[in-house]
This record gives sequence, C-alpha cells and structure tokens, in this order.
Amino acid sequence: MSRTLPPLDLHAHIELGIAPRQLEQLGAVVFAATRSADEFERTTHRADRVTVWGLGCHPAVASAQAEFDDERFAELMRNTPFLGEVGLDGAARIDMETQVRIFRSILARAARTPRIVSVHSKRATSRVLDLVEESQASGIVLHWWLGSESETRRAVRLGCLFSVNRSMDCVRLCHAGVPLDRLLPETDHPAGNRRGSGLKQPGWTLDVEGAVADAYALTPEDVRTRFWHTLAGLARSFYLDDLFPRPVRAMLEAARQQAIVPPEGQA
Ligand SMILES: [Zn+2]
Repeated sequence: MSRTLPPLDLHAHIELGIAPRQLEQLGAVVFAATRSADEFERTTHRADRVTVWGLGCHPAVASAQAEFDDERFAELMRNTPFLGEVGLDGAARIDMETQVRIFRSILARAARTPRIVSVHSKRATSRVLDLVEESQASGIVLHWWLGSESETRRAVRLGCLFSVNRSMDCVRLCHAGVPLDRLLPETDHPAGNRRGSGLKQPGWTLDVEGAVADAYALTPEDVRTRFWHTLAGLARSFYLDDLFPRPVRAMLEAARQQAIVPPEGQA
C-alpha cells in the first residue's frame, strides 16, 4: 500500500516566530531558508515536525555577509541537512569579491560534509557555476535559476539540481535537457508565489507539480512521487536522514518504497 506524500517546498522564507502548529497546518514539508547564521541559530531550539530550517548566508544581505564566520558556519551545519540561502547576487551592493570568498568557503564545507544546498544565482549564473565546478560540491540545488540554455546544460553536467517555482518556465528547462530527476519544487514564498491564482503560502507547490507534469508528460501525482524520490535519494547518499525531523524521516523512507513511473515514451 502506498500512502500519499504531502507536497514539498525546497525554498521558502518563513517568519522565525511562527508557531509550529501553523507550519503543520500548511500540509506540506517545507525547507525554510534563513539569511544568516544568526537567524538560523534562532531556529535551533524549535521542534518543528515538518519544517527543515536551513543555515544561510544570503549574498544580498550585508549584515549576513559582514558577520560570516567560517568556523561558526561549520559548527552550525552539523545540525541541519539543509544549507540555504547561499550563493551570489550580481545585483546586490555587496562587492562580488566578498560574496565569492564566502560562497567559496561554504561550498568547500559542503564538498567535505555534503548537504542539500539551496543556491541563489541572480545575475551571477555563470560565476556560480564556476565556483560549483571548482568546489566539486554535490547536492547543489539552483533556486529560481534563470541561466541561459548553455549555462543550464553546464549546470546539468556539473550535477546540479533545480528548484522550480510558479514564476519559472518548466518547458524551457525541459528543452535545455534538464532530466526530471534533477527537479524539485519550491515556492520561494513570499517572492516566488506572488503571481498566479494558486495559494500564496509556503508549501503550496501544486501548480509547480502541474507545470512540471505538463512539460515532462506525466501526471502531477507521478511528479510528486518523483520529487520525493529525488529528495530521498539525496538524503540517503549524503547520510542525512538523522538530521531531519522524525516525521519527515518516515516520509523519506516511504518515498524510497514507492514505484517510479517513467515519462511517456520511455516505458
Ligand atoms: Zn530566497
């Protein structure tokens, strides 16, 4: 018997003071990005059942960049399977040299101690790929990726995954050769789900499931199963299960038991 797994959201911004019950009521497993180590530290006492808090150092947040401490980051990342939000931002006022130095040290940590890493690459897509390649880190999930077709192909070759929100064009990713097993859903709440008619709440990725299903010729149910399978595969290959809340751990285990439907024409 297979039970239905809830929607996934690999990148959302959530207020740190929110009650755990409100997060449970979303009916989804949400990966909540933080912008700094300070923010992340404020979540470590929480006991959320279906929310995975990420350790971040946002490239466009000056205070986070100014206070980045590599040793502290390494210490804190022991407590979470998820790093985010990190990366580079070509539109930010922080100088690129500083951003590169910090992102490089985070990637070096992730190369040694693999994590699921949610990466911001606004106006810095090719620079981000250079650093990913140099670091040889795996588990890189490019969030709200807007790279060119050739950059997208390069990202696929480098082993990157992509977290897709409703403001993105899944057909474009499909045409650039992104395999379905490199995709994960996100809302990027509150920025990424501002448009469209769907619910504007973290975890509500039903529209993304639908768009990916259309682009890859599957049903939305099959797509969700795939997303879970991909996440469960990452968690297993990096030995991350123990870092997830217990209910999510059980879902990862259930996802590994479920059968995967091949896209049309590939049966
Ligand atoms: Zn974000």
